Amino acid sequence: MVARRATVRDMRRSNRAVLLSKIYLEGPLSRHELTQLTSLSPASVSTLVAEFLEEGIVEEAGSVESDGGRPRILLQVAPTFGHVIGVDVGETRVTVELFDMSMAALAKADYPIESQPLEPNATVRHVLDGISAVIAQAGVAQSGILGVGVAFPGVVDTGEEGLVHAQTLGWADGVPMGAMLRAGTDLPIHIDNGAKTLGQAEMWFGAGRGTQHAVIALVGSGVGAAVVAGGASYRGSRSSAGEWGHTTLVYGGRTCRCGARGCLEAYVGAEGILDRYREANRGRAAQGIDEESAIGALIASAETSKTAQKILTETVGYLGAGIGALINLFNPERIVLGGWAGMALGTRWLPQIRAAAAEHALQQPFSQATILLCELGPDAVALGAATLPVARLLADGGLRLAAGSTPAGVRGPRVRRLTAA
Ligand SMILES: [Zn+2]
Repeated sequence: MVARRATVRDMRRSNRAVLLSKIYLEGPLSRHELTQLTSLSPASVSTLVAEFLEEGIVEEAGSVESDGGRPRILLQVAPTFGHVIGVDVGETRVTVELFDMSMAALAKADYPIESQPLEPNATVRHVLDGISAVIAQAGVAQSGILGVGVAFPGVVDTGEEGLVHAQTLGWADGVPMGAMLRAGTDLPIHIDNGAKTLGQAEMWFGAGRGTQHAVIALVGSGVGAAVVAGGASYRGSRSSAGEWGHTTLVYGGRTCRCGARGCLEAYVGAEGILDRYREANRGRAAQGIDEESAIGALIASAETSKTAQKILTETVGYLGAGIGALINLFNPERIVLGGWAGMALGTRWLPQIRAAAAEHALQQPFSQATILLCELGPDAVALGAATLPVARLLADGGLRLAAGSTPAGVRGPRVRRLTAA
């Protein structure tokens, strides 16, 4: 049997993390509710809340009547305790936004990307320029910025180097974005895949709220998923888990952007839908200046065009089959469908998508899952990215870190050891 060792310091940090996460994600809450919602004793809750209030990370937010007793004071994380920055590195633009702790957006900077494929040094420059610009715009002190979250398309290795593998950006071999950004700023940099950060935002503030097991299924030009199991993001060994779009729907089927054949993305991704329509429509494409307007036009013509109707009915079926596979694999409480194309399809045909998922999933797990649409909209990637430094703050129990600290360095020296059986 392995002896379990914990230091007083670790214990205090983990208790603070539990309590602060509850207050942030489910607050405002009273001390009484915090005791009921955590395994902490009333005395511990009281002591830790007093610390949070003294540090200014938590503030009082009114009170509620209690049965016969004194009114109970409600607590929330103070919106102005600190600020966070979120960056969405997209295929066509870099968007940088600054938020307070309540995730109210206070400043925004946008940089269109002129040259394709995207050049790594130009990307770093846009991100760093954007950070300076939003700090100046919001008029906040750099010392009050808790960190910067940066979301990329593709597979993001969240290790020290922060390698980003993005075939669509021409970065197939991996670019050390984490290291390059850290070389240009003293602020703590956190990077991740855009679908995963959007998934975290939906879990915290959107349609995933209140669940522990969910899959955020995103359909845009590309198709991906963020899998949340037991409240934590499922990443796999090197962070690429959730590439739902590249699971095989049709063996030997249509060629996908990834080079394989028959991927789900080649059928339900925006490009796949538009290609299938053009082929069925004797080479005539759906009208629109870009993919988004073409998909909109195609959906609008579903009533009048037999070809459009056929393609979209099949798309709904394919999407339902893909969702059925997610239900069978992960047994989620909730599937949250989003991404701009997913929203467009789901707004019109959610009942049909549910029915198609039912046909392709096992009965029991299907009956345990609800299928909803994303609530934050497809433009919430920068907001999602900004949840990365907040997640670090919560995990760290609100104990602020020096710039550039790594998770391994968070614990610090072990000053005193307690040995438990
Ligand atoms: Zn593929």
